[in-house]
Amino acid sequence: MTVSTELNSEMPVLAAIDAGGTTFKCALIQEGRGIIAGVRIPTTQPEPTLKACAHFFKEQKTKGLIASSMGIASFGPIDVDPSSSNYGMILDGPKLGWAATNLRDYFEQELSIPVAVDTDVNGALLAEMEWGAAKGVNAAAYVTIGTGIGAGLFANGSLIGKPNHPEFGHIRVQRHYADIAFSGGCSIHGDCLEGLASAAALTRRFGNPVNLPVGHIGWDIEAYYLAQACNVLSLMLRPDKIVLGGGLMLAPHLIGNVRHQYAQLMNNYLGQSKDEIDNLIVTPELGDDAGLLGGACLAKL
Ligand code: ZN
Repeated sequence: MTVSTELNSEMPVLAAIDAGGTTFKCALIQEGRGIIAGVRIPTTQPEPTLKACAHFFKEQKTKGLIASSMGIASFGPIDVDPSSSNYGMILDGPKLGWAATNLRDYFEQELSIPVAVDTDVNGALLAEMEWGAAKGVNAAAYVTIGTGIGAGLFANGSLIGKPNHPEFGHIRVQRHYADIAFSGGCSIHGDCLEGLASAAALTRRFGNPVNLPVGHIGWDIEAYYLAQACNVLSLMLRPDKIVLGGGLMLAPHLIGNVRHQYAQLMNNYLGQSKDEIDNLIVTPELGDDAGLLGGACLAKL
């Protein structure tokens, strides 16, 4: 975590939380200065986790670091509809013990500042558009390929899908010719995009992706599905950037394979040169701090 100690009294200080399944990262962020104080808290049960977060922010307040608002980029499922009475509430999902925990209510009560909440992927998208790989563009998509697959979409000045969020991981894709036998890993659809191309699905067929050698057909199969996803995004949204993030994209050779198969599938329909495709389909630039910076973007909205 990059921590800057210089403080510019002109700019507002924003409180940000990257609420993850294993760690809650908390920080105070000031525009132009970045992270001015931060802490990582292991995600256990709701009460001790949230209490430790609130304690951090209260402690900073005593040092004169007073946040004007807070943004939380959170794991889901979570209610992200500002007009809902449950706005900010974790819904029934895989994270045991967290259902019905309302992150927004908790921090508004504890810290007496306005709190905005959105998904972790929307947070990462906003952060990449503000400071990272999609800086300065008008329309962008951020797809995270990890245990599951999710996407945030931004066009015409706002996030797409509000007051809900896209469920892009569950679109249908065409099977790779060498991947017919696998029934797919999605408990709802079987062989949707997430069921075929999440890190969990890849692991079920070929073992831990970390041990899968470059050139293995498993990578071609993976890239084929992600290339189809990028085709859909291009044809539907015409984004300036498609940022592919998440654990699986840490395999450095995968992005090139996705671009190559994207071009084959698109068959020059949009007249995109190789350079334009290289410039369109990219990996994130913000790394580990993307969620926190996303929280800061949400705090500004
Ligand atoms: Zn599905």
